[in-house]
Amino acid sequence: MTLLNDREWRGNIFTGAWRPAQGGTAPVTSPTTGSELGLIGSAGAADVTDAAERAAKAQKDWAARSFEERAAVLRRAGAEFEDKADEIASWLRAEAGSAAGKAGFEVHLAVTEAYESAALASQPTGEVLRSAQPRLSLARRVPVGGIGVIAPFNFPLILGMRSVAPALALGNAVVLKPDPRTAVSGGAVIAEVFREAGLPEGVLQVLPGGTEAGSQLVADPNVAVISFTGSTAAGRKVGEAAGRHLKRAHLELGGNSPLIVLDDADVDRAASVGAWGSFLHQGQICMTTGRHLVHESLAEAYVDKLAAKADALTVGDPDQEGVALGPIIDIGQRDRVHDLVTRSVEAGATVRAGGTYDAQFYRPTVLERVTAGTPAFEEEVFGPVAPVITFSTLDEAAEIAAAGDYGLSLGILTGNPMRGMELADRIPSGIVHINDQTVDDEAVAPFGGVGASGTGARFGGTRANLEAFTETQWVTMQSEIQRYPF
Ligand code: NAD
Repeated sequence: MTLLNDREWRGNIFTGAWRPAQGGTAPVTSPTTGSELGLIGSAGAADVTDAAERAAKAQKDWAARSFEERAAVLRRAGAEFEDKADEIASWLRAEAGSAAGKAGFEVHLAVTEAYESAALASQPTGEVLRSAQPRLSLARRVPVGGIGVIAPFNFPLILGMRSVAPALALGNAVVLKPDPRTAVSGGAVIAEVFREAGLPEGVLQVLPGGTEAGSQLVADPNVAVISFTGSTAAGRKVGEAAGRHLKRAHLELGGNSPLIVLDDADVDRAASVGAWGSFLHQGQICMTTGRHLVHESLAEAYVDKLAAKADALTVGDPDQEGVALGPIIDIGQRDRVHDLVTRSVEAGATVRAGGTYDAQFYRPTVLERVTAGTPAFEEEVFGPVAPVITFSTLDEAAEIAAAGDYGLSLGILTGNPMRGMELADRIPSGIVHINDQTVDDEAVAPFGGVGASGTGARFGGTRANLEAFTETQWVTMQSEIQRYPF
C-alpha cells in the first residue's frame, strides 16, 4: 500500500482528514519537466483560522495523554518513514528536484527526527529550585498550545519535521504551512505519516498555501509560537508581525557561509569538501558554502581542482542514474542565480566552470578573481555557485569571513585544528565545522544562526527543543495556606 492515496490528497488540504480548501487549489509542478504533477488544496486565511481553532481544541486532550502514548505515535511515525522511504524519496525527486542521494538522506533525517522526538517525550521537564520559604519550588516546562510551522522548499520534509516532531512530542498541536512549491513532499507526506501513526485528529494539520496563509498563521490568536524557516526578507516580516501579536517567533533564515582553506590544508581534500559544500542540491541550502576563502599559496591548485570537479558533475533529471545536480526550483530563482553570476563577471570575476544553463538546469559554477564586493560573493546566491577569494594572513581571512550580515555556518580546513578553532572564535557563526564544509544537520545537534541568519533560535537536541516548544512555569507548593500581616 502506498502512503499517499491520490483520491484523498489531490485538490485538498489536511485538517485531520483531507477536505477542500476555501482558498481553492494550486498546481504541483515538476521543476525537471515543467509539467503539472497534480493539484493540491491551497489554504486561504479562513482555512488557517478554522485550523487554528481546531488545533486549540485537539491540543488539550493530546497534552493530557501520557508521554508514553505520545512517544509511541512518534516511534510509529519513524517506522512509517522507513517503510515508505522509496515513495517519499520519489516525491522529493519529482517535486523538489532533489538528486537521489539528497532525497534518500532527507528521508533518513526525517526518520531520526521522529525517533529523537519520541525520546524527547520522556525527558525531564524541569528542575527543583531552592526557595527561601519552607515550600516546594519548581520550574517546569509546559506545552505552548498551538504552534505554527512555516517551511521553505529546499529541504521540505526535514525543515517541516524538525519543528513538527518535537512540538508534537512535547504536547502541542501543530498547523504546518509548507511552501506551495513542495506541498506534497513537505506537507502531504508528513500529514499521512502521522495519520498512519495514529495521531489524533486535529493535532496536526497541513495547509499548503502562500504568503496570505503564512501571515494569517502568524496573526492567529490560537497560535502561540511560530517556527519559521525561510529567507531573511520574509523572516523580518514574520518577526515584526509576531512581535505585534506578542508571540515568540523562532526564525531560521538565509546565509552566506564561508569555507576557509588555510595554507596547511590538503588541497585535494579541500576541493572535494568545497565542491560538496557549494553544489549539493544545486546550492539551494541555507548552509551552502557561499564564499570560498583560500590561502594565496594554494589558490591556483584549489581553483583548478574545484573547476575540474564542477565540470565532471552531471546535471539533469534526478530520476536518471548518476545525476549529481537536479533542477533549480523555478525559473525566477534560476534567473536570479544567473543575474548574480553575470553581474559578478561584469565586476571583474572570471568563470572557471559553468556559468550556463539549460531550462532549469544550472551548471555548477566556479568564479575566480573575486573580491569582497563581487555580487555572487557578497549576496546569498541560493544556486550552485562557488566564488573563490584569496587571502594572505589569518587577520585578513577573519576580516573577510566576518564581514556581511549573515552568520549561519563556518567551515575551516587546516592541518592544525586548534589554529582553526582560534580563527573560528573571531567569526560570528551559529555553527562551526573544523575540517569540514558548511552543510550539515543532525537531529541531536542545536541548529541555528546569528545576525541576519536568525534570532539565535535553535532546533535539535533536548535543550533547544524544550526551549523552542514549551513555556516555563514557576510552581510553588506548601502544606497550608500562607499567612500575611493583613
Ligand atoms: P521564503 O522566505 O520566500 O519562503 C519560505 C516560507 O515562508 C514559504 O512557506 C513561504 O510561503 C512563507 N512566507 C513567505 N513570506 C511570508 C510572510 N510574509 N509571512 C508568512 N509566511 C511567508 O524562502 P525561499 O526563498 O523559498 O527559501 C529560501 C530561503 O530560506 C533562503 O534564504 C535560505 O537560506 C532560507 N533557509 C534557511 C534555513 C535555516 O535553517 N536557516 C533552512 C532552509 C532555507
